[in-house]
Amino acid sequence: MVFDDILELLRNFRDRRDWLRYHTPKNLALSIAIEASELLELFQWTTNADEERKVLDKKKKEIEEEIADIAIYLLYFCDVAGLDLEKAIREKIAKNENRFPLES
Ligand SMILES: [Mg+2]
Repeated sequence: MVFDDILELLRNFRDRRDWLRYHTPKNLALSIAIEASELLELFQWTTNADEERKVLDKKKKEIEEEIADIAIYLLYFCDVAGLDLEKAIREKIAKNENRFPLES
């Protein structure tokens, strides 16, 4: 499915270092939040949309690294929790379609 190749790379990286023992659900959930905070930090002290846009332009590489960190920990979380991220996303999109119907 969508994340299969990336998950294989991540499992290989983790297992060659014997890091699975650190990948408890709580540790991974914390890591997701920490990395999301690192992304937010890049926008610290901006006060308007123009400044936020400048951060996007000037700190693109750092932003890419933080979004990758978030996604990596999310995939590791799903892996140890036995969750199918693609299925969860598709189900949530469908739920949101019903929750927020288009006004005609
Ligand atoms: Mg980071």
